[in-house]
Amino acid sequence: MVLMVKYNIFLKKGKCSRCRNSIVIQRKYSGEELCPKCFEDNIEKIIFKTISKYKMLKGNDKIIVAVSGGKDSLSLLYNLNEIQKKRFQSEPVIALTIDEGIVDYREKAIEKAKEFCNELKIEHKIVSFKEKIGYTLDEIINKKRDLPDYKYTCNYCATIRRRLLNDVAKELGGTVLAMGHNLTDMAETYLMNILYKRLHLIANQYPFKKESPKIKEFFIKKITPLMRIPEEEIFLYANIKEIQYYPSHCLYREKDPIIRKRVLDFIQECKQFSPEIEFNLLSGFLELSTVLYNQLEKGGYHSCQSCGYPCGDAQLCLYCQFLKEFNQ
Ligand code: SF4
Ligand SMILES: [Zn+2]
Ligand SMILES: [Zn+2]
Repeated sequence: MVLMVKYNIFLKKGKCSRCRNSIVIQRKYSGEELCPKCFEDNIEKIIFKTISKYKMLKGNDKIIVAVSGGKDSLSLLYNLNEIQKKRFQSEPVIALTIDEGIVDYREKAIEKAKEFCNELKIEHKIVSFKEKIGYTLDEIINKKRDLPDYKYTCNYCATIRRRLLNDVAKELGGTVLAMGHNLTDMAETYLMNILYKRLHLIANQYPFKKESPKIKEFFIKKITPLMRIPEEEIFLYANIKEIQYYPSHCLYREKDPIIRKRVLDFIQECKQFSPEIEFNLLSGFLELSTVLYNQLEKGGYHSCQSCGYPCGDAQLCLYCQFLKEFNQ
């Protein structure tokens, strides 16, 4: 389905707090009311300020943008491409897409990503699970679904995609990997990690760490410039800019009875009564990850016996554990 929504349908009653035109948004968490143009400018300013405030980029960084073809990643790609061209002397951004091999979903999203990159003349690298690990995600799930050690699809998918994004971004000469996580994603992930007491993950996601040369050898720096923008605002922004993104969700997300979806519903419900709740979760994450990172870092880390990547206490990292299971 091609998405082509003019922003007129988003217009609401009221006058823009800045220019008195008709508005498209009333931000309950800040009280602002903005017209399409002021909203668009404001979103771009938030992205730029987030990058500056959290020192996400240096002038000579080579930026690789993880692109799925959805609204978040294409909005991010558009902004980073503009920022790189206007403000930095560095090499142009590169878009990187991982094709997990999900029939009826990923190929359509990839088409959107390809079209967008062509339009903006951005180099686009596509790498598939099949070529890198020998199986598509659909093949993995068909093989594992009825086995006792089956994990939810998203666990396999996210672990493998994370590793491939990291490795290919490094192969492309990237110094920074930009991810399209918005505020809602950040809040949801943080709450999930709290519920499952994944303190090491919260610590690992600490965004301002000064990593040792050993860690840098394996991992590219990740940045999340959309982390202060709620999901619905990225949706509005992408539509106002008429970005042609792929609007559907992955079918596995609906099929698996994952807690994540319930957590998201819970956050949305809380937002009705406490509009700033996602911002609280983000700042809670930033503060707690600082404390945990400084605390847990002292314990050092083990190296995976197969790939050498830093990992927890297990002999194999999760990525290598999964590869071993798939090949059994
Ligand atoms: S919803 Fe789950 S299975 Fe689908 S692309 Fe995302 S992580 Fe992968
Ligand atoms: Zn305005
Ligand atoms: Zn490993």
